[in-house]
Amino acid sequence: MGKATGFLEIERRDRTYDAVDKRLKNFNEFVIPLTNEAIRDQAARCMNCGIPYCHNGCPVNNIIPDWNHLVYEDQWRSALEVLHSTNNFPEFTGRVCPAPCEASCTLNIDDAPVTIKSIECQIVDRGWAEGWIVPQPPKHKTGKRVAVVGSGPAGLACAQQLARAGHAVTLFEKNDRVGGLLRYGIPDFKMEKHLINRRAQQMEAEGVQFRTGVEVGVVISVESLRENYDAVVLAGGAENPRTLDIPGSEMSGVRLAMEFLTQQNKRNAGDDEMRAAPRGTLTATGKHVVVIGGGDTGSDCVGTSNRQGALSVTQLEIMPKPPIREEKALSWPNWPLKLRSSSSHEEGCERDWAVMTKRVLGSGGKIEALECIRVEFEGGRPREIPGSEFTLKADLVLLAMGFLGPRTGGLIEQAGVALDERGNVKANVVDYASSEDGIFACGDMRRGQSLVVWAIREGRQCARAVDLHLMGTTELPR
Ligand SMILES: Cc1cc2nc3c(=O)[nH]c(=O)nc-3n(C[C@H](O)[C@H](O)[C@H](O)COP(=O)(O)OP(=O)(O)OC[C@H]3O[C@@H](n4cnc5c(N)ncnc54)[C@H](O)[C@@H]3O)c2cc1C
Ligand code: SF4
Repeated sequence: MGKATGFLEIERRDRTYDAVDKRLKNFNEFVIPLTNEAIRDQAARCMNCGIPYCHNGCPVNNIIPDWNHLVYEDQWRSALEVLHSTNNFPEFTGRVCPAPCEASCTLNIDDAPVTIKSIECQIVDRGWAEGWIVPQPPKHKTGKRVAVVGSGPAGLACAQQLARAGHAVTLFEKNDRVGGLLRYGIPDFKMEKHLINRRAQQMEAEGVQFRTGVEVGVVISVESLRENYDAVVLAGGAENPRTLDIPGSEMSGVRLAMEFLTQQNKRNAGDDEMRAAPRGTLTATGKHVVVIGGGDTGSDCVGTSNRQGALSVTQLEIMPKPPIREEKALSWPNWPLKLRSSSSHEEGCERDWAVMTKRVLGSGGKIEALECIRVEFEGGRPREIPGSEFTLKADLVLLAMGFLGPRTGGLIEQAGVALDERGNVKANVVDYASSEDGIFACGDMRRGQSLVVWAIREGRQCARAVDLHLMGTTELPR
């Protein structure tokens, strides 16, 4: 373990942020890393518990106590090796993961978990800076060809693992750039996109072929993939958004969060306005913005609206306000239900809970306000509270109410795969096989909307299942 008495001597200390007025001026990342020495102190707080709950709390099962120990011993390169043994892209999770590992850290019983996510991020950022991260092309080629459809974290992790196992992997992506929601959902201020480009270059050098701008099921058929490849992996995400079907929601000021976020990410990438917004520019500049939906997507809309110069930003959530502090005895080491405030919320935003939207008000197709009502919950279902109606001024309403599963046209229809009761591609987490022979599924397309870290886990495990299917044996880790 790090330092036997480290947790008694050293206070938890985490990364800080640039001041709000500074960070709102641009879309860059604003986290200020700790020094390597300070991170080493934080790693020394790890108690190397007999049962390391963090290891299980982390969906990719990062071997956290081991790399904490290695950082404490100043063996950063070995720490990086251990980290990469379970996680292809720690620089992504080190930035955007909600860190369920920290919720399950034993020191979280006392509200001061090890700063696991920051240590992870520093190990991998240092690895890149030192030039320790290089392509790992396979020593032998298998002669097998695999098509991976979708280049989000699941498709990327799956493709990298399969290429390292010696298969010839082609990764198809309908968008103009790879990365999935890492690229066009998550804003740059949470994760800058050069990080994806750098990994893509590494993967190309390992043999992965990227084919962007190719929608499977539209530009190229699933049938042709089946003919030309030995296996096909579906990693197309859960792209079907939940919409708002209330009077007035057809007005042009009511828009999907993903349309809004994608446009800004494309502008940040240097695309001209026609390429960023082929269907017309959508910005929050000078507007009263209401974001419907209290999750990550909603929070990203808040941060983006404030950077674009919104006059006001309000975020509504239909569920009741969660408790500020969880009941540790009931929840630990599991992920607790509690109030979570993101850096975007700190930047300026009114938040309201247990609110249902009733009607969008406006004239001439232009929205002016949102009519809402408060709700209470009975048997898990919202019930309107009579007399609690109120209106909110709104020029732009952004819908961030989650996703219902994969789009079913094109790819899914042509693949002919069975769906589960939630509308996701049906496959288990042992063999990741769909109902169609030789077609596999992973990530949000299989599990429904989730997290980057779960997508990486599924991509890795699916690659192992595909390798086993093709070769009868596999050395890829689960
Ligand atoms: C706005 C937003 C913010 C988020 N923030 C966070 C966060 O902070 N932390 C976190 O952990 N998670 C976050 N998430 C969730 C996370 O991004 C997803 O769970 C994760 O990206 C899923 O990975 P995936 O590879 O399964 O799918 P995706 O990332 O959705 O990638 C799927 C890819 O497949 C492509 N595709 C689909 N169909 C086809 C086809 N027929 N042919 C070719 N290509 C196709 C799509 O274009 C897309 O690029 C966020 C989600 C959103 C929407
Ligand atoms: S990937 Fe997420 S859960 Fe796992 S160690 Fe990193 S921050 Fe924690």
